[in-house]
Amino acid sequence: MNEQQLSERLEKVVSYVPVGSRIADIGSDHAYLPCYAVQQGQVEFAIAGEVVEGPFQSATKQVRSLGLTEEIAVRKGDGLAVMEPEDAIETIVIAGMGGALIRSILEADAAKLVGVKRVVLQPNIAAHQLREWGEVNQWALTAEAILREDNKIYEILVLEPSENKVVYSDAERLLGPFLMREKSAVFQTKWEHELSNWKGIQAKIDASNVKNAAKLAELDAKIRIIEDVLR
Ligand code: SAM
Repeated sequence: MNEQQLSERLEKVVSYVPVGSRIADIGSDHAYLPCYAVQQGQVEFAIAGEVVEGPFQSATKQVRSLGLTEEIAVRKGDGLAVMEPEDAIETIVIAGMGGALIRSILEADAAKLVGVKRVVLQPNIAAHQLREWGEVNQWALTAEAILREDNKIYEILVLEPSENKVVYSDAERLLGPFLMREKSAVFQTKWEHELSNWKGIQAKIDASNVKNAAKLAELDAKIRIIEDVLR
């Protein structure tokens, strides 16, 4: 993978970035996504934000070597702290981290979201955390995607500020309202795998002497949701 040949995952993520927008890619190891988006003429300005020194240096080197320092500002900082009001960022991309970490980045600096029109999120796990963040903060899902690459399954969530209250059912929050309606083959594979995993855990708890009733009830509820949707 490089700035010219993105992974299928990042290519799908970038496909949700509106043409001509100003973006912040938070957690921008190597800055592949912003470099690609600028070179394709898809975005006019990008911030590549990184909190760790090594990836920050890699991103800086990459942007310099491609001569993109005018269009891409590589900044070291925690989460949304790298964004300033004068950057007029319209789209934030946060990809390749866990859902809980992405949520904590969004929650840590909510004021930075004022004026942002879209967030494109690709959690490696726990996407439900981000749907719940949308409900709490009134950001509605406008699209979702699921894909398989190198034997891993990835979900992509696109959210935009909503004028109305955002509420999802338990099933929609866990599985994704768009994804559960589309029910693609990749979606089926992911949730059949989770189902068998959770049933295994349930059987182990059932067989043990110390039963955690709350955990069992939580597992039971999730299993029922998945069985219902996959049926
Ligand atoms: N976004 C790229 C992708 O999807 O391929 C890189 C993903 S990489 C696994 C995650 C990156 O996020 C790492 O380089 C890590 O240092 C960075 N990161 C983690 N927490 C961060 C935070 N709070 N602020 C900025 N960057 C962060």
